[in-house]
Amino acid sequence: MNSTAPAPDVYSQLYGGVDYSSLNWFEQQWVAWYVWIGNPVIATGLLGFLMHEIVYFGRCIPWIIIDAIPYFRKWKLQPSKVPSAEEQWECTKLVLWAHLTVELPTIWLFHPIAEFIGMKTYQVPFPTWQTMLWQIAFFMLFEDAFHFVSHRALHIPILYKHIHKLHHKYSAPFGLAAEYAHPAEVMILGFGTLGGSLLLCLFTEVHFVSFWIWVILKLFQAIDAHSGYDFPWSLQHILPFWSGADHHDFHHMAFTNNFATSFRWWDRICGTDDKYVAYQRRLTEAKKKAKTGGREELLLIEKQLLDDVLAEGFKEEARVVNSKNSLKIE
Ligand SMILES: [Zn+2]
Ligand SMILES: [Zn+2]
Repeated sequence: MNSTAPAPDVYSQLYGGVDYSSLNWFEQQWVAWYVWIGNPVIATGLLGFLMHEIVYFGRCIPWIIIDAIPYFRKWKLQPSKVPSAEEQWECTKLVLWAHLTVELPTIWLFHPIAEFIGMKTYQVPFPTWQTMLWQIAFFMLFEDAFHFVSHRALHIPILYKHIHKLHHKYSAPFGLAAEYAHPAEVMILGFGTLGGSLLLCLFTEVHFVSFWIWVILKLFQAIDAHSGYDFPWSLQHILPFWSGADHHDFHHMAFTNNFATSFRWWDRICGTDDKYVAYQRRLTEAKKKAKTGGREELLLIEKQLLDDVLAEGFKEEARVVNSKNSLKIE
């Protein structure tokens, strides 16, 4: 694609009345893509799926490299649990399968649904950056609340056993495992990503480009939260309400607690971070004590704390798996 004026026949069908020279570079590329493909449904589906795959696997690559370099172990939340190449490949195969069987049709169906509900798709110009900013903030808040409620529901024994158990295969997650989940879970939790934009369409004009910027941010958030690394420069150390890897790693390790995605406030308000808070307190106390004993002692205490939480987590999971199909949230 280039930024020269596109073919006039398709252009006039889709963009009749739009002055091409008044568009910015991004809008011109957008127009060129839709004119090149010639069919907006195919153009949106293809763009959406390709972008999803490129961002997902592109964002996982740095984490795969980090996992392969021992220097980074000092920031690994569960340092003895580094995924092997075989584990990463097994995970990639299932993730790809879910992308092709669940996400591809969903992404393809999204265009007709979005248009039906009034979302702008191929149209230009784009909304202003201020509009995009508040709309993306809304999508994020919606997804976080939706995910918190549905993720808690997925821990109900009957749903856990048949759906969510697959995602908990890794008690020490890694980037690629972000979308390692049962197709039903991808659908349920995926609604949190799509739902905010569809809901907002009922009240105001939403453009597909705002939605896709949000999807890219969401992919970064999900992969980074599963990375298993907590660096001193990680976002949660700058924004204390941001969940980050340390928050979600604990969910995988302890099996309970920390159900939200992007923010910490729902778990704090609902008291579903009590074990996590206690664990953090014990860790801080251990660090203080270890100042006299040195690094070796701290590593030993940390390992003991991690082992205790993990053992407790396995016990909790076994209890849910072996419990009757009650509707009690675990
Ligand atoms: Zn869970
Ligand atoms: Zn997870």
